[in-house]
Amino acid sequence: MPSNNMSFMQRPGRRWSSFVIGSNDALGGSRKGDPTSTAIGAYTERATSRLGDHRRLHQATTAGLLDTLSGPHFHQFPSELAGILGQQAVHLTMQDQRDHTEFDEEREGLLSGKEYYDGQDGSDQHDVSRKRVYLLAGILAFLMLSAVFGPPMLKSPRPRADFDCHKLRSNGTHTFRKTSLIVSIDGLRASYLDRGLTPHLLDISKKGLRAKSMRPIFPTLTFPNHWALMTGLYAESHGIVANNFWDPKSKSEFHYNKVESCSNSSWWYGEPMWETAEKAGIITANLMWPGPWETRTGISPTYFVPWKDKVPLKEKHDQIMTWIDLPLEKRPQFILAYEPSLDQAGHLTGPNSPLVNRVLGEVDAFARDLHESLIARNLADIVDIVFVSDHGMTDTSRPEHVYMDDILGEGYEMMDHVDGWPSMGIRFSSEANATYYLDLLQNAALQSNGKFDVYTHETMPQRYHFSHNDRIAPIYVVPKVGYVLTDHVENGAGMSKGNHGYDNDDESMHAMFVAHGPFSSVVKAVQQSSNGGLMRRFLSRPNKGWHHASNDTYILNTFQNVEIYNLMMKLLGIEHRAAPTNGTEGFWDKYF
Ligand SMILES: [Zn+2]
Repeated sequence: MPSNNMSFMQRPGRRWSSFVIGSNDALGGSRKGDPTSTAIGAYTERATSRLGDHRRLHQATTAGLLDTLSGPHFHQFPSELAGILGQQAVHLTMQDQRDHTEFDEEREGLLSGKEYYDGQDGSDQHDVSRKRVYLLAGILAFLMLSAVFGPPMLKSPRPRADFDCHKLRSNGTHTFRKTSLIVSIDGLRASYLDRGLTPHLLDISKKGLRAKSMRPIFPTLTFPNHWALMTGLYAESHGIVANNFWDPKSKSEFHYNKVESCSNSSWWYGEPMWETAEKAGIITANLMWPGPWETRTGISPTYFVPWKDKVPLKEKHDQIMTWIDLPLEKRPQFILAYEPSLDQAGHLTGPNSPLVNRVLGEVDAFARDLHESLIARNLADIVDIVFVSDHGMTDTSRPEHVYMDDILGEGYEMMDHVDGWPSMGIRFSSEANATYYLDLLQNAALQSNGKFDVYTHETMPQRYHFSHNDRIAPIYVVPKVGYVLTDHVENGAGMSKGNHGYDNDDESMHAMFVAHGPFSSVVKAVQQSSNGGLMRRFLSRPNKGWHHASNDTYILNTFQNVEIYNLMMKLLGIEHRAAPTNGTEGFWDKYF
């Protein structure tokens, strides 16, 4: 029985589990500080930290053994603990030796001047000082020459990304497998991060990575984009072409807030990341991510908490940490979580409202709490956490009205189905002369000076990837930001103070990407070490200082959200199992 008030489901065939929220089973020694800003510094510190963790673990496995066995863990999973301690002892001895060797080799490569510190006889001191000066001058000259002219002679060794999903790792007290979290904050517009109201997300991005923004798929709506994030597919491929739409094949309507739509897997095409992970033998947990709880092939996440509104962020944090604190054989290695409050605030009062700013602070604190809870468990080198959003938000408090009843005349009453608010995907009734009304719409669009566009499957912009699917209505009217499609009865009353769904190239629709974890350290180090010689590195680091970002924040250029599927596959170490996507092949290879 769940100990919080979220309903809690497990995959059929597995037992229902009970959790104690907030237990700190996996709590290890806290570890301060993160990889430093230079490649050499980052790499050396990683190596040192690994050694530090293992030293702590040796202490834990000897001096702390009795404490641990008599502590609360013993009652919860004694057999796992015994197993862990046995495994850790063997694993660590070998790992430690390996790390010592690797570390020593790294040191050899990085600190080539150790002979300077060899003991010297006092009688030779003057001579030695002079030698030292020559040597230093030589090294200085070498550094300058290699920086200016040379191929990158002084590059640090290219760090290796280690995403083996089966390898056991230790946080100092418990055994873990490489773990990944993806958290979606609905409606967090990329530029919200420039408001000075998200110090913790910025701090996480400073330790890790941030993108200038992430381009959502078209239409820039919640369900199409959450499913694009999950599957790496455009709407025309994954089939969720709007939050509400008509399917001519099944002659039924998909509606995002109807349980029948979410529970019926036949609506949802593509392979979500949790399906790929489950097929690869990875335990997954889904906390309210918009989408189905079972795919067309009958696969579900191991743990699933269905959507419920107004669940406090603390409960979500605690649920995620409860999963992290499970014993190894039950613990999910891949967790996805969803939070809608910022989007709700954006719709209600608009993106520039005090309410949005307040909720922005709340989701920022949520990100901080998650990050700090991972750090407190000494999991910074084990767990990758990726924060994303599905789309942005634009002010629609004073939109200019476009009256569709004026344009279509009697045709306005002859529409059988209208999909995809704030666009209008129109299916005229069979009695209507659809070609005639399409002409009316296209002429009106031409005369509107760009207030809205009218597309068919044939004329839809290719960059929308929004035509090859029967679920996409044959005529699509797409308003530009600042305009609302309405009629004289409604008179724009349906429009909220903030909205999204517009052109995915519009900056206000762009989503955020912030990540931290072992992979982000590797990305930074690889980028810095592969950027060429020292001088080039200093002069050409991409996006240095962008939007006042601190100079040690690594800013990725804007990328499309269909790349996220392959990122998570890489982090989970199951790239070879990845399903085909609309993402760019090898997109993440240039980063790590
Ligand atoms: Zn949304």
